[in-house]
Amino acid sequence: MAKETYVEQIADIETDFPQWYTDVVLKTKLVDYGPVKGTMVIRPYGYAIWENIRRELDARFQALGIQNAYFPLLIPMSFMTKEAEHVEGFAPEVAVVTHAGGEKLAEPLCIRPTSETIIGSMYSKWIQSYRDLPVRMNQWANVMRWEKTTRPFLRTSEFLWQEGHTVHATAEEAMRATLQMMDVYEEFAKTCLAMPVLTGRKTEKEKFAGAEATFGMEAMMHDGKSLQAGTTHYLGQNFAKAFDIKFLDSDGVQKYGYTTSFGVSTRLIGAIIMTHGDARGLVLPPVVAPVQAVIVPIAAKKEGVAEACRALKERLAARGVRVVLDDSENSPGWKFNEWEMKGVPVRIELGPRDLQAGKCLLARRDTLEKSECALDGAEDAVASLLDEISRTMYERAAARMDRRTVTADSLDALLKGVEGGNFVRAGWCGCRACEDKVKEFAQATARVFERENTAETCVVCGKAATATVIFARAY
Ligand code: ZN
Repeated sequence: MAKETYVEQIADIETDFPQWYTDVVLKTKLVDYGPVKGTMVIRPYGYAIWENIRRELDARFQALGIQNAYFPLLIPMSFMTKEAEHVEGFAPEVAVVTHAGGEKLAEPLCIRPTSETIIGSMYSKWIQSYRDLPVRMNQWANVMRWEKTTRPFLRTSEFLWQEGHTVHATAEEAMRATLQMMDVYEEFAKTCLAMPVLTGRKTEKEKFAGAEATFGMEAMMHDGKSLQAGTTHYLGQNFAKAFDIKFLDSDGVQKYGYTTSFGVSTRLIGAIIMTHGDARGLVLPPVVAPVQAVIVPIAAKKEGVAEACRALKERLAARGVRVVLDDSENSPGWKFNEWEMKGVPVRIELGPRDLQAGKCLLARRDTLEKSECALDGAEDAVASLLDEISRTMYERAAARMDRRTVTADSLDALLKGVEGGNFVRAGWCGCRACEDKVKEFAQATARVFERENTAETCVVCGKAATATVIFARAY
């Protein structure tokens, strides 16, 4: 019977997490593979999540006075080479247009892997005086980074993101803006994605190509690996000097500005899937779930059931709940499986007996618990249940991250920690050789600094540590 097939189609989450992920993203119709290797098609159910992410984040940007704009996809090759570290970091991933209109182009054009260069060149034109500062813009766009191994949402050659770019008069103000945006991301991840994150500075090795300092937020996935879910960069004057972003300061002196950039991408959808998903499929956080509640009629042909379901749907919609009434021909059991796999936070069951008793049944996707609820005022009950689900999902993920963050004082302990699916906290002396050794020995990387200027010793060489670092295997 169709009822069982869904569960059978998804690989076991505990024994084959990579296959579970692939099954879930394809079978819930979030995404499909594009015809060009490494590209993905974001299908309506997946795109709706992105639209919800975008709406929530955009509101936060607007509240800070950040303006949206749009810059071209094509960047002159010469721009990319102006900032030495930047070009070195991105060269292996850049796709280049050499021909157009049936002719070879005089100058090759890059398809943007990120837009610091083109936005910097425009800022240099627009900024003249300290009165023009700060400048804070954001664009919602696609970018392209040619990747050798790809996975939907996690790593694809083209993805959607937002990239913010700001210019400030002083280093202090630019650094403040960089840190402030990380706070915005962290609050957003908690409130909208029910996703706890670790935030902090990245090592030189892990920082953005061309940045003075990169800050990241890292989330723990179901298998204990880390996923970088967003970054903010303090770029100092690197791009200002490369692109001549100068302003006449109030003291009459021409100065270079200080710039920052920050971004999150469709990778966040991958983070949601791997943070919250379970054996039955997706478990979507209510704030970004395309469908927050689904009504499944039981014995829909019995008198009054269809009408009661429609009326309830209208009341829920009026209450601001994104609701679907599944009145298809499939059996209720089939529908339960389908909507569970799709991760809809609340399922509402309503049949003749419920109707007679003036009740309905609410089933939570996160805990799989069921409870009865009076039909009268059910819209308020569902709305508050959605809040409760957000809280529970966050707390559960936070408890897991706490439980699975261990401390190591030797390389062996670090290896054991990451092999067991943990984040590993350890001292680090700050030298690249020790960081490389961790990678070689434990296939783990430094995710973020938990604390700088610590009194610990380096987990590799035993010398005095300069920072306590969270190491993990990462996506
Ligand atoms: Zn060391």
